[in-house]
Amino acid sequence: MAEPAGSFPAGRGMIRTAMGIVGQNLRTAVGQRALPTILTWTVNFRCNARCGMCDSWKKTGEGELDTQQMLSIVEKLPKSITAARLTGGEPFLRNDLERIALALDRHLDLDLIHITTNGFLTGRITGFLSEYGRKLSAPVQILVSLDGLEDLHNEIRGQPFAFRTALDTIGQIAAHRNEWGVKIAVNQTVVDERGIRQYDALHELLGELNVPHHVVVAYAESATYSTEASQDLSPVSSGTFRTANPIDPDLFRSFMDKVEADTRELPWSNGVAKAYYLKGIRNRVLHGRGVPNPSCAALGGHMRIFPNGDVPTCQFNSKVVGNLHTTDFDTCWNSAQALAGRAWVEKCPGCWAECEVLPSAILGGDFLMHRFRKEISA
Ligand code: SF4
Ligand code: SF4
Repeated sequence: MAEPAGSFPAGRGMIRTAMGIVGQNLRTAVGQRALPTILTWTVNFRCNARCGMCDSWKKTGEGELDTQQMLSIVEKLPKSITAARLTGGEPFLRNDLERIALALDRHLDLDLIHITTNGFLTGRITGFLSEYGRKLSAPVQILVSLDGLEDLHNEIRGQPFAFRTALDTIGQIAAHRNEWGVKIAVNQTVVDERGIRQYDALHELLGELNVPHHVVVAYAESATYSTEASQDLSPVSSGTFRTANPIDPDLFRSFMDKVEADTRELPWSNGVAKAYYLKGIRNRVLHGRGVPNPSCAALGGHMRIFPNGDVPTCQFNSKVVGNLHTTDFDTCWNSAQALAGRAWVEKCPGCWAECEVLPSAILGGDFLMHRFRKEISA
């Protein structure tokens, strides 16, 4: 999926996030709703890729809000939000992404604006970054998807130009990252064993560009990217994780060893976060063990918005609890549906999608606490 992965505030942002955790816990202790700290905004579902593991591109743009409507949502967002993750679909298909990012940057005191992309629209993406990278006061991070070498990536993304355009985008951003004031990383979604076998070659290629290489393992199904509305595809138990395709356990184990070792090459905060994610995926895929398993921040410290302004429960439960186009934030966040959604989240056994797990682990404190617990499986 075009999902934000492996990115969260560092430095000052980490300190503010830690203070936010204390504040959120105090609010919860006195019976108040936790306000969102991290926003994941799916600005569109439309996509110019044709990935087999994702149905986003099959969705129409129906209901997608126009520029003014998006900007009016920005004005409603609570000041508690310190990290904004813009995703799709392919977010750069929106020709107003600059205006949305600038509005977020002005309205909120952000430690991070994170954007995921398939990298196809090279001119559009580099134009955005060269013009706005330094205009935005929040640090900008961009995560480009590259799932293997040319043939495999083109097959997975369903376009014959996918690899070449994405690599061109990555190369141009990498060459200008200091000038533009942006950070770049590549996200490899491991869809099947072929992605595992091409990890080393991709790692070497990205190493030549000095671009961090992140890995996520594709899950079998997602409510967010399904063409069906209002679905609950959450796991039945905390140790459940269905990979998109079968993966030989021995191959997966040695792959995890390698990727875990390579987290030492990542910037510290990304490396620690990635190690946490990898620990959980290893335990689930190889042992059916749901550890770590942070308290979930969905509808609490982490809020999602869909392209039509709907606020869904989470990545695996697309049941909507309110709409920020038609109502104000307090009405949406304190609705009866939101209350019921939070009760459901509390009972959920826990999933392992990085875009959900990291906000939960950071905001709930498990991110640091797990380091003191013995929960690694071989
Ligand atoms: S690039 Fe692929 S995975 Fe990402 S949103 Fe588009 S179709 Fe889905
Ligand atoms: S753990 Fe949270 S994000 Fe994951 S399925 Fe459950 S409620 Fe949704």
